[in-house]
Amino acid sequence: MTAIPVTIGRRMPQSAASVDLGAHAAAAPVASIGAPLVDTHGRVHRDLRISLTDRCSLRCTYCMPEQGNEWLAKTSILTLDEIVRIARVAAADGITTFRLTGGEPLLRTDIVDVVRRLSAITGPGGRPVEIAMTTNGIRLAELLPGLVEAGLTRLNISIDTLRRDRFHALTRRDRLDDVLDGIAAAGASGLRPLKLNAVAMRDVNDDELVDLVEFAVAHEAQMRFIEQMPLDAGHTWDRSRMVTQDEILTALSARWELTPVPGRGGAPAARWTLDGGPHSVGVIASVTAPFCGDCDRLRLTADGQLRNCLFSTTEYDLLPILRQAQGPVEEPFPPVAELVEAGIDAGIDGMLRSCVHGKLPGHAINDPAFLQPARGMNAIGG
Ligand code: SAM
Ligand code: SF4
Repeated sequence: MTAIPVTIGRRMPQSAASVDLGAHAAAAPVASIGAPLVDTHGRVHRDLRISLTDRCSLRCTYCMPEQGNEWLAKTSILTLDEIVRIARVAAADGITTFRLTGGEPLLRTDIVDVVRRLSAITGPGGRPVEIAMTTNGIRLAELLPGLVEAGLTRLNISIDTLRRDRFHALTRRDRLDDVLDGIAAAGASGLRPLKLNAVAMRDVNDDELVDLVEFAVAHEAQMRFIEQMPLDAGHTWDRSRMVTQDEILTALSARWELTPVPGRGGAPAARWTLDGGPHSVGVIASVTAPFCGDCDRLRLTADGQLRNCLFSTTEYDLLPILRQAQGPVEEPFPPVAELVEAGIDAGIDGMLRSCVHGKLPGHAINDPAFLQPARGMNAIGG
């Protein structure tokens, strides 16, 4: 099965030339279910972010416009069976963590079944997979017992501000209390490590960084600040509005002694202990301190597109493979059905390998020629 990547993107205002070309020119690797997903730079891929929907209960300014968002066609959204099918092949190829995201993953009506079916998948040698989720926390308090029972193992919850008026302005919804209920439920659930995410923004929440860390510590969680990235669906990113890792660390240093934690591995966040520990804070500095060299992540969008980077403008379409016409299977040739099934799995594996093979050594946000992906963060899966 031949993988055909499609390039889609939108040039940033200052850009002059395209990026992301060339890496796909090389021949696609041969499919071989069960072999690790190693790219041409030696990075082994172990983490698959699965976006379950592009819809959301909030409208965070850095992610989605208030109105006029172009939603993915409902008919193109992967069914639970399709997600499980892709995940099984990915696990056989060495993926060990599935992170459910979106959009807002808790909006998916079959979310408990998604977790249950994915958590039943095993990798080579029967190794269990880990099921993590990134959520805005709305409806989490109500859904968490079922999710934990179904096999959820880790949670990241987004909270950019503790002030109700700010939360309303930033997310365009008055739902702070629902998020706080979700965080309280997560704290009580015992799922650890529990991580809280905030996008740091100039003149929006940059006077709350210490408060957010103290809030996280009080909830036995780790606060992580994210540099704002050029991924909003409204294409309004402005570098000057971004609070940098250095600025975040300077603000926190006024309150705590920060000591770098070694051994980051492939984790997106660099961490520092607070006053020698045990608590710590993380910073995801995708813009000012990219961590592409150790990236072990792939992404699957809600409409079946594989992506090898948040910032890539190339996608690898799994829908034609999953939904290929199978035709009637008639006696006396029942094995045909099995061959078709095997062909679909081989096609998924081939597309995973092509996607990994096409991965560039790093993203190009800081290149004047940077081409912003046409999809917003809500449709990529953060
Ligand atoms: N709705 C869920 C949530 O908000 O946690 C999951 C999806 S959201 C796209 C995943 C993460 O991406 C969130 O932590 C959010 O803050 C972050 N995010 C969204 N847009 C971003 C941007 N432009 N720059 C940096 N982080 C962003
Ligand atoms: Fe929704 Fe998450 Fe995007 Fe906010 S960041 S609009 S909660 S998908």
